[in-house]
Amino acid sequence: MRTKIVAGNWKMNLNRDQSLQLVTDISAEIQNYNLNGKRVMVFPPFINVGYVMDSGNRNYQIEVGAQNLHQAESGAYTGEISASMLTNIGVNTVILGHSERREYFHETDELLKEKVDTALKNGLEVVFCFGEKLDERHSGNHFTVVETQLKKALFHLSSANWEKIILAYEPVWAIGTGMTATPDQAQEMHAFIRKIIANHYSENMANKVSILYGGSVKPDNAAEIFGKPDVDGGLIGGASLKSADFAAIIKAM
Ligand code: PEP
Repeated sequence: MRTKIVAGNWKMNLNRDQSLQLVTDISAEIQNYNLNGKRVMVFPPFINVGYVMDSGNRNYQIEVGAQNLHQAESGAYTGEISASMLTNIGVNTVILGHSERREYFHETDELLKEKVDTALKNGLEVVFCFGEKLDERHSGNHFTVVETQLKKALFHLSSANWEKIILAYEPVWAIGTGMTATPDQAQEMHAFIRKIIANHYSENMANKVSILYGGSVKPDNAAEIFGKPDVDGGLIGGASLKSADFAAIIKAM
């Protein structure tokens, strides 16, 4: 269902104590916020997901998810984490397709399709990340790149499956660079994404999908980006590690 969402991707940051401190601080910052159906999520590294989820200081409006999973159900994959390991500790949501995983761990659209299928089969909701690189935008190929990423990894899904998909458009050139897309650039791409979903499925379905923007969202630009009609919130990296900044971004939503 289309909902406003602010999600914090902690990446490979914070040890256990720091993670517990951060969720405690965010909880205190937002204790008087009435989210009114809007969602707040944090995604710690695997090893701290359970600790953060079980923290007695966590404001239960803050959902806790995982940053990745392996496509196989189980087996000889040293160092990997399966979908059922996540659901067993109470995880409901997983990020897939982050540009850092595509870039540094060579995750392809084909692999991501498998991971999405495994996540959905196990009842997980997916925050699916995608977006173009700077040279692809400069050469005018950004719409084609985004369309291809979505088609290859998600367009085999049924309309019912899409109830568990949250999209996160993250132009790679804006991630961690401080160079955010303008609100109009974000809106233009989000409207395009909704149009291709409408063409492949239906307008009704396209209007039900939450599409988040990610890439250097900060307290001072969040409200303007989130104010665009097709932007349903944000996936936040750097600013999600500072409780006051994250809380300000939640407030902007
Ligand atoms: C991200 O990693 O998903 C992200 C959006 O990072 P940042 O906010 O730091 O650009």
